[in-house]
Amino acid sequence: MYLVADISVEICAAKSCKLCTQYCPEANTILYSDELGKDKGFKYGSAYVAVDRCKGCAQCVWVCDNMAKNNAIKMIMIDQLPVAALTDNVTYGEKSTTATLVSPVVG
Ligand code: SF4
Ligand code: SF4
Repeated sequence: MYLVADISVEICAAKSCKLCTQYCPEANTILYSDELGKDKGFKYGSAYVAVDRCKGCAQCVWVCDNMAKNNAIKMIMIDQLPVAALTDNVTYGEKSTTATLVSPVVG
């Protein structure tokens, strides 16, 4: 088990600054969906992490906390994720470290 970045949709969708997506050193790891947060009444979407690509460097945490001042990202153990997104068939669904595709992330 290892630490990966987990983004709070509630916090991120309220801000939607997208700053972290520019600073993650791993390609296609912090992604952005216009759909995330809509079910919670947010107008704009949220960033999310393809956890199988996340190297646990926590650079995104620094960016969100110190540059964006939003504190939306925490490092948590991968098996503690409430939801997971994987790269292969980009998913964002019920908690699983072998996440199954609920619906493709759009946006
Ligand atoms: S920097 Fe924080 S608030 Fe901005 S998009 Fe990333 S996670 Fe969301
Ligand atoms: S912890 Fe590092 S690799 Fe993982 S999403 Fe954040 S910046 Fe990218």
